[in-house]
Amino acid sequence: MNPFTPIVDEPFPRPQRWGEAELERLRRMVDQPSLFYWRGPQCGELLAEFRRHYPLNHVFPCSSGSAAIHIALAALRLKPGEEVIVPPITDMGSVIGILYQQAVPVFADVEPATGNLDVGAVRAAISAKTRAIVAVHLAGNPCDSTALRALARERGIALIEDCAQAWGALHQGRPVGLVGDFACYSFNEFKHVSCGDGGIVATDAEEYGPSLGQWGDKSYDRAGGERDAALLRDPAELAPNYRMSEPQAAVAAAQLTKLGEIVQARVQLGARLHAHVSAVPGLVPPAIRPGDTSSYWFFLLRVDAERFRGGRDEFAAALRAEGAPASAGYIPKPVYGYRVFQNHNFFGGAWPVRDAGLTTMDYRAVHCPIAEALLGDCLTLTINEAMTAGYIDKVGRAVAAVAARLRR
Ligand SMILES: *Cc1c(COP(=O)(O)O)cnc(C)c1O
Repeated sequence: MNPFTPIVDEPFPRPQRWGEAELERLRRMVDQPSLFYWRGPQCGELLAEFRRHYPLNHVFPCSSGSAAIHIALAALRLKPGEEVIVPPITDMGSVIGILYQQAVPVFADVEPATGNLDVGAVRAAISAKTRAIVAVHLAGNPCDSTALRALARERGIALIEDCAQAWGALHQGRPVGLVGDFACYSFNEFKHVSCGDGGIVATDAEEYGPSLGQWGDKSYDRAGGERDAALLRDPAELAPNYRMSEPQAAVAAAQLTKLGEIVQARVQLGARLHAHVSAVPGLVPPAIRPGDTSSYWFFLLRVDAERFRGGRDEFAAALRAEGAPASAGYIPKPVYGYRVFQNHNFFGGAWPVRDAGLTTMDYRAVHCPIAEALLGDCLTLTINEAMTAGYIDKVGRAVAAVAARLRR
């Protein structure tokens, strides 16, 4: 018999993510004559559900969050060598579209207590070639979109909100995504709500909104094309096929009917865990701006290595031994440190915009010290809507016990 009983002595709670709501829509869907987004009702219903949460005028459902961001960037008609500012702690999806449009990702450092873009660092990174900022709401914690928008307006550049990790999060009481020029969301497997894979790009801007669909559908003008087949098959610009299909939309729409519940649970559980972590000197919980609400995609905290033997890695290992859903770190290194960036290996080993002299960017010389420090001492705790307050309290007790045991 194992005499050691972990503090978190119950199985990891797993939410039942799909059920009757999804089945009901899928059942209706199989009677449809078409599963194509332009003809079926599921994509339309998804957009209606989306607008109940995010009242934006122009909305296009697409194949992923990465696609949503790429569509927003394409709508800006970036020219080769123009620059887009991004944080170094994010998913590849924030930068893929920039590179495919032959623009240059410029990494600006983050705030130490959130991992979100630091407004001063963004200001310093703006050049004559800057066209946009892609601002991530990391782990569900809103970035300072108000300040970023003010800066973007002042400098005449666009603000794209990457809300992939922040479904249901609130910035100054309003859903994230309503402040920037574009809002981009993901339905991938790991997000708050999912249809396996999918995304949404949305905007209120009349300048971009009406053609979002063209940027995600081969530059086909289906609105005009219904009337004029010659126009439909005569694309004016280069655009990928990032369409969503009806089965994805049926599941995604059903998921959005549950968003309120899912987010409410995570907000409460996250706040509870925040209180536990804040009570332990040497641990730094995520700073949430007054007036903002994090929807806790996961719980990100930092471990002061000076105060705990073995630093972050030992802390995470000890938490796991206590049954807590902890892992050391988030992404292994800042995005600019990935092999693809270090080798500038973007297009068959080449980088045409640099070869053509349109940029002098060298990712081997890029350093964002705050992001690097954060990734070196952060730890993630899983939060999901199936957890109970009791479970979170056990995780909190495990955090306190491990801290006491490892304290120098
Ligand atoms: C998940 C994610 C994306 C990309 O979404 P996909 O649907 O996987 O393409 C983009 N940005 C961030 C911050 C993400 O977490």
